[in-house]
Formats: sequence, structure tokens, C-alpha cells
Amino acid sequence: MSTHKKWLSTFWAALVAGSATVLSAAAIANETVYQPAPKKVVDNVYAIIGPLGQRSEANAGLNANYGFVVTANGVILIDAGASSYSAAMLEQAVKTVTSKPIKWVLNTGAQDHRWLGNGYFAQKGAEIHAMAGTLKSQQASAVDQLTSLRRFVGKQLDGTAPWYASRTHPAPKTTLDIDGIRIQWLETNAHYPGDTMIYLVDYSVMFTGDLVYVDRILGVLPQSNVRKAHEAFKQMAALSPRYIIPGHGRVTNLAQAQRETGDYYAFLINNVGVAARNMEPISETLDKFLKPAQFMHLENFAELHRANMNRVFVDFEANP
Ligand SMILES: [Zn+2]
Repeated sequence: MSTHKKWLSTFWAALVAGSATVLSAAAIANETVYQPAPKKVVDNVYAIIGPLGQRSEANAGLNANYGFVVTANGVILIDAGASSYSAAMLEQAVKTVTSKPIKWVLNTGAQDHRWLGNGYFAQKGAEIHAMAGTLKSQQASAVDQLTSLRRFVGKQLDGTAPWYASRTHPAPKTTLDIDGIRIQWLETNAHYPGDTMIYLVDYSVMFTGDLVYVDRILGVLPQSNVRKAHEAFKQMAALSPRYIIPGHGRVTNLAQAQRETGDYYAFLINNVGVAARNMEPISETLDKFLKPAQFMHLENFAELHRANMNRVFVDFEANP
């Protein structure tokens, strides 16, 4: 090989290597690293609003909403994060507001990012609370959740093991007083079996868990129950909470929750559910209700709406 050719091949190798470096940096830069930050809802009550997308290393599996209440003697944290790694991130976020320790952790549901951080807080002395149905659902799905979550967050899951509540409460309804904070805890069974919502009576603040989604369309999973969700939504609305911290999406009010979640449950039941009950053909039904103008602006609509309808149809076909 001539010197010139040698130089050229080195040049090309460097160029290719260089562009590969640029590309991978761009791919990483594509998703910004999420830093949980408290947003004040009312005095002493804060929400931590996670990103709307899928679990990732960049968001550490914190693609959901969290919240906390500062009490006289400590902090009540609502939902524990997806791992010990992300639990520490939530703890840091709380520390930007108060130096009081997190003494109580309440799990609103059984989905990974609601409870897999329990162990981190329990080992620091926090008392973990859950409703009985939530605990049962967590126990049933823990192994599958750890396996699938690792695909999204990788090594961030190292050192995380399922840790269950030591304080369980009877479903479907419990009234609690934690350090002077009055709590109404209600089972919804909406997105996952054992899903719940937590109402702070004195603040008129409702943490809905995965009952309410705003800004993005909700997902109906095989384990979701739209009929129970619809009933729970009505129960939630009857309490007229002034502030709603949804499972996903910004801090909101009842009007937006109604438009983007309550109305969607009703839409699925009254159109797709009814068609299934009347034994109409599935594909025609899904085509007919594919483009409801009132929901099409919501994020993830294109990806989820048809699959949501499909699951509701199959459910109503089996349980008319
Ligand atoms: Zn969720």
C-alpha cells in the first residue's frame, strides 16, 4: 500500500469512527436525563410529575407521577419509584423542599414504578403502607415486573428486591390519620388489580394513581378493568377534589380529568362495550370508532386507541 493510500484508509477509518461517536452521542442526547422536581400543589403538598413516555435509563423508570405531604414530624411519600436507584432520586427531590425524613410510604398501585422502591425507604426506617388488594397484586406480579423492567433500565435495577408493605389496610375503603393528615383511601382496580386512589381530605387533593391520565391517552391493559375504572372515576368525581394529581400527566382539575379520562372510559363502554354485547363484528366496530375527535389530540393516541378498544371488546364479549 502506498503512503498515500495508507493515509487515505486511516483518514476514512477515523472519519467513520468519528461519525459513529457523534451518532451515539446524539442518540443518547435524544432523551434528556429526567431529574424529579417537586411542584407545590398547596401548602405542604407537592407533586412530582414524571415524563409521559416509556420507561428508560434516562428517566430511571420514573415515568409516572409521585407526591408527598410534609407533616409536623416527617414526610408521607405517595409511591416509591421503580427501583432503589430511582427511590434515591425521589428522596433527593423531597430534600429540596424539607429536611424532614420520609417516614411513611403509601403505594397507590401494583405497577413497578409505584412500589419497587419500597425497600430503599423501609431500610431507612419508613413504614410502608398498602391496601390489601394492592399487596396481593404486587406479590403476584413482582417477578415478571423485575424481568421486564430490566430491559428498560438495565443496571439501575441492581440491588432492588421486592419489599412489601408492613401496614396493610382493608379494601375497598379505609380512613387513616397519619401524623394529623386525614386520608381517605379508595380502591379503584382501574389499570391494574389493586389500584387505589388517595384523597387528602383537608387539602382537597386527590392522588388518583393510574385511574386518571391527562395530556396522554390512558392505556387499557389485559389486566385493566374499564367498568371498575368508570365506577371509580364517578366515585372520585363525587368527592369534588379541587386538585387532581393524575397517574400520568400534569397536576389538573376535575374538568380536564373528566374530558380526557372519565369521558374516554364512558366512550369505550358505551360504544365498543355495547357493540360487543350486541355481538356486532369486531373489526367493523373498531373501524367505526377509530377517530373520536375529542381524544385524538392526546399523546400516544395513535399507538394505543385501537388496542384499547380491542381489549374492551374482548372483555365485554366474554363478560357481557
Ligand atoms: Zn402508570
